Amino acid sequence: MKTIIEPFKIKSVEPIRFTTKEEREQILKNAFYNPFLIHADDVLIDLLTDSGTAAMSAKQWAGMMEGDEAYAGSRSYFRFEKTIRALTGFEHIIPTHQGRAAEKILFTITGGKGKYIPNNTHFDTTRANVEFTGAEAVDLPTEEGKKPELIADFKGNINIEGLRALIERVGAENIPLCMITVTNNSGGGQPVSMANIRETKKLLRRYNIPLFLDACRFAENAYFIKKREPGYADKSVREIAREMFSYADGCTMSAKKDALVNMGGFLALTDGALASKARNLLIVTEGFTTYGGLAGRDLEAIAQGLDEVLDEHYLTYRIRSVGYLGERLASARVPMVQPPGGHAIYLDAKRFADHIPPDRYPGQAIVCALYRVGGIRTVEIGSVMFGKYDSTGKLMSPPMELVRLAIPRRVYTQSHIDYVIEVVQEVYARRNELRGFRIVEEAPVLRHFTAKFEMK
Ligand SMILES: *Cc1c(COP(=O)(O)O)cnc(C)c1O
Repeated sequence: MKTIIEPFKIKSVEPIRFTTKEEREQILKNAFYNPFLIHADDVLIDLLTDSGTAAMSAKQWAGMMEGDEAYAGSRSYFRFEKTIRALTGFEHIIPTHQGRAAEKILFTITGGKGKYIPNNTHFDTTRANVEFTGAEAVDLPTEEGKKPELIADFKGNINIEGLRALIERVGAENIPLCMITVTNNSGGGQPVSMANIRETKKLLRRYNIPLFLDACRFAENAYFIKKREPGYADKSVREIAREMFSYADGCTMSAKKDALVNMGGFLALTDGALASKARNLLIVTEGFTTYGGLAGRDLEAIAQGLDEVLDEHYLTYRIRSVGYLGERLASARVPMVQPPGGHAIYLDAKRFADHIPPDRYPGQAIVCALYRVGGIRTVEIGSVMFGKYDSTGKLMSPPMELVRLAIPRRVYTQSHIDYVIEVVQEVYARRNELRGFRIVEEAPVLRHFTAKFEMK
């Protein structure tokens, strides 16, 4: 096998600003050791998120110029609609400014007090939108999916027995829909198998409960199915994606992931009555039905991106670059969640910095060290992000302390990834020098975005 190369040439480049370790120490201090407060210009390699950070292609930029900005009935909308209909098979295609706007509309019309929404694992905005209506968001990962060190093919699957038990406990009439997130973002970008989607639909059909996909990373999921699930090796990724959607009654999508754009999303569904309610709400909160919260040029770029993301050379490069990072770190014995997911590597901070207790934020210590040593920005997913206090003011920690290295699409080359590997290895080799943190200022909700830290 020859080296898997980036399946693109670079036509337009964006310089990155180099800083010294001393400068970065000062920048960290000024940002109160919170990477969200660092200016992006001071970051060398930005692995904060894979959301809205993709590089667009020449054809997408050309599409931006082709965009039809008519208020109603824009040509760009019809291209967008046609592309998504062909991909998903859903009749009603509703543009929104991003994924959470599609969620907000879907759950406003289906949720409410006394209702339950099951999902393999809710993404945080999905959970927030479900709970905002008064409904309960129920996570149903499999036992496999809960074991960070276990290597298995489809750790993103939904627990079908758990779903059956939930339906029996609360009654089908209180479950307006079931969701499956592909790939399972919060579970580490782990894929969901076709068999799991098919079986879930079979169960739901008996109770007349619709199935929706949270389809943000549908192409990455389809690629994993092709590589790992018996019977799919000779199918195209497009056919596989089409089959995934065929078991669903609708989907929500953040185009900032697998549509390879910087902003956008949609809600797509088969039920005409539901679609009509969604459109009414769309007009109040997002915009007219043929643009949602988007410009015509955005719709063009999304339509083009949805075609490009199914290119198998692209997906080979995409999944391989994440896998490569994971394999190299694993062979250096750096503790991480296994196996590598589709869009990110998650370091296991508990084992990485086992001398720092959860209430001194081991993940934050690693995040700061990666920035100090190499100018790499990552994010803590552990006690900083999910920690809550009990009635005595004691910190209650989530089960895992992780650091996420999310890989933007088509942005970095193999030498960037090699550099990241070197920096992580250096921080790991000197892990005994890592020191914990104390939070000196925090907001009552979503504190990780603005919290200020002090080194302990
Ligand atoms: C990003 C994301 C969303 C929300 O999309 P936004 O465009 O950020 O609003 C929902 N679900 C999953 C799985 C995501 O990754």
